[in-house]
Amino acid sequence: MTPNMVPSAYRGVSVARVDRLVSESGLRRHFLGREAYRRTRFLVVRDDEGDTALLRVEKDSDEPLFSPIASFEVLGPPGECAYIVAPEADTAVPSTLARIALSRAPGVRAVVVEGMYGHVSFIVNPDPLRLAVQEIVPPEPPKLFDQVRRLLDVAEDLPPILPVADTVTFQELASLTPAVRYLLPCGGSGVTVAGVHTAYLDQRPELQEWTLLGCARSRDIHEWFYGECAATVEICPRLRTRDPRVPTLTKCCLLEDRIEHCDGSVVVPWGATLGQVREALQEVARRWEPSWRPV
Ligand SMILES: [Zn+2]
Repeated sequence: MTPNMVPSAYRGVSVARVDRLVSESGLRRHFLGREAYRRTRFLVVRDDEGDTALLRVEKDSDEPLFSPIASFEVLGPPGECAYIVAPEADTAVPSTLARIALSRAPGVRAVVVEGMYGHVSFIVNPDPLRLAVQEIVPPEPPKLFDQVRRLLDVAEDLPPILPVADTVTFQELASLTPAVRYLLPCGGSGVTVAGVHTAYLDQRPELQEWTLLGCARSRDIHEWFYGECAATVEICPRLRTRDPRVPTLTKCCLLEDRIEHCDGSVVVPWGATLGQVREALQEVARRWEPSWRPV
């Protein structure tokens, strides 16, 4: 069973109506020898009872405008095929097809989606790659996770990917090392730690007794400003412990203009652009879904 089967850009998906979907032999009697348009490769068959089947059809020839159907394979028999109407969905995007399949027809083998512009597409055996996206919050939603979601919404050329936020809060990190005052990297983030004084490194405040909630880059800046190191709670997502078997996208304060991969994770710069995040998702696909192709 090929997972995540979706049609290629030239979808060739046609919708046919029958009175009643009963059996494969019934489909055979109805469709074998019947003319299909030269671009048609898949048939979504719907009946009056609301049942749906999905067929992959072979025609005698793809040359003439129409040609008789010579054979077909049932990708989704009635009872194992759902038809979902989702007007907000771009059905050319594999991740969108997978997300809709899992949320609206969980456990169903073949899911046909009628989306934006009335376009119809499908996914068979939906099993998207779960990608852990490591982030620190606030902001909420975390930026990298939000960028991933926005890119996957239009990623026509990537395999189905389902991002899963793997977050830790500044508050949780601070609780690892209780202090009377914390120094945070950036005032613009609006981050505070409940019940404790906070100062912000980017405002270059007077040196005080504090614990830095920061990364290697913040430590360097602290040393530059004050000539000494501060007690630090490390916040760089890249340094979080992780299961190397779980595909992970993370970010690092020390990367500036490129992405890296190591130990089962792809790493982008802290303030990655959408272009860099797209590049990282392409790397994720190369590493964890190298053989996936649309059909
Ligand atoms: Zn880092």
